[in-house]
Amino acid sequence: MRIPLADLRAQHTALRDELVEAFRRVLESSAFVLGPELAAFERQFAAYCEVPHALGVGSGTEAIALALRALGVGLGDSVLLPAFTFIGTAEAVCHTGARPVFVDIEPQTLTLDPAALRAAIEKHHNVRAVIPVHLYGQVAAMHEIAAVAKETGAVVVEDAAQAHGARYHGRRAGSLAAIACFSFYPSKNLGALGDGGAITTGDADLATRVALLRDHGQHKKYMHDMVGFTARLDGVQAAWLSVKLRYLEQWNVRRRAIAQMYDNALRDLPGISPPITAAGREHVYYLYVARCSRRDALKAHLDACGIAAAIHYPVPLHLQPAFAHLGYRPGDFPVAEAAAREVLALPLYPEMSDAAVAEVYETVRKWAMRASPSMAAAQGQRA
Ligand SMILES: *Cc1c(COP(=O)(O)O)cnc(C)c1O
Repeated sequence: MRIPLADLRAQHTALRDELVEAFRRVLESSAFVLGPELAAFERQFAAYCEVPHALGVGSGTEAIALALRALGVGLGDSVLLPAFTFIGTAEAVCHTGARPVFVDIEPQTLTLDPAALRAAIEKHHNVRAVIPVHLYGQVAAMHEIAAVAKETGAVVVEDAAQAHGARYHGRRAGSLAAIACFSFYPSKNLGALGDGGAITTGDADLATRVALLRDHGQHKKYMHDMVGFTARLDGVQAAWLSVKLRYLEQWNVRRRAIAQMYDNALRDLPGISPPITAAGREHVYYLYVARCSRRDALKAHLDACGIAAAIHYPVPLHLQPAFAHLGYRPGDFPVAEAAAREVLALPLYPEMSDAAVAEVYETVRKWAMRASPSMAAAQGQRA
C-alpha cells in the first residue's frame, strides 16, 4: 500500500531515541511489574484525563472486565452496551459472568442511542451497568445516558478505548462516569508497543478494588484480600507510554486537521457522507469513518489505487457467531446493521502528509463523480 490506514513505524522512528532511553531505564532498574515507571505513568495519565485516579492494566478488554468486577457485576447480572462496537466491550462483560444485552446506536454519531437504552432498560431485569462506547473518538451522549441509567440505578462505565483526549462539553473522556476504560493497543491514539490498558475513576474505593484485582487481590505481598488476576500494565510499557503521552495532544490536533481536510473535500459528494460530530463534542478521530452507499465498490477502488481503507465493523455484535447463543436476529438493530453496510475508514494518522491526504480525497472524489454523471456535469458547469 502506498498510503496505509495508519503508520506506527513513522511515529516510532521519530521517537526512537526517547523510546530506547526509556527501555534502558527499565532494564537497569528491573522494575518490570508494578514499580515507579507504572506509578509515574498513572499520575501523568490521570492528570491528562483530568481525573483523580488511573491504574494501568494488561489490555482494554481487561480494563472493562476489571471495572465491572470492581463494581460487583457478575453472574445473573445484565450489562447494556451498543450492538456496534469492537467485540472487546462485550467479551469483557462475558468474562465477569454477566450477560451482554445489545442496544441500537444513533444514526448520526453511531454511539449508544439513549432512547433505545431506555427501552432496553425497561425490558430487562437485573441491569447493573451500561457501557457507552466513544466510537471512533467521539464521546457518546453521556448526559442523556447518565439520566436514563440513574433512574434505574445502573452504573455507567465509559469504554474510552478509542477516545484518549476527546472532550464532552469541555470534560475529558475518562472523567465522565463512575469509571472509564482505555486501551493502549498499538494503533490507538495513545498506543503501547504491545498490549496495555487503563482504568480511570474519581472514586478512591473503586480505584483500590481495581488495584487489588489486577494484582492477585494483594494489598501487601502474599496477603490476599480477594481472588484477583494477573492483569497489570508492564513497567516497560508504562515507560514507553509516558514518552508517547507527551505527544498525544499534538497528535490529536493533527488528526483533527486532517479530518477537517477530508470533511471539506467530501462534503458535497453524492453517496458519501463525512462523519458527523454532535454539539459539545471534541472528536479525536481514532478513525475517520465516512458512510458510503456503495461502500464495497469504493473500498475495492481505493485498494486498487494503493490506498488502504478499512471497515470497522463489518458485522454488528448481535449477528456475530460468538453471540449466537444470545438469540438475536437480523433486523433487531437496524441502525447498527445499516452502519455495518456503509462505514468506511479512510487513512488517518498524525504523521500523514497533506499530499497523502489530498491523494486520498481526490481519489474518492473522482470515483464518486464518475459514479454519478449528473453530479460531474454540474461540477463541470460550475468550474
Ligand atoms: C480496542 C478496543 C477495546 C479493547 O482493547 P484491547 O486493548 O484490544 O483489549 C475495547 N473497546 C473498544 C471500543 C476498542 O476499540
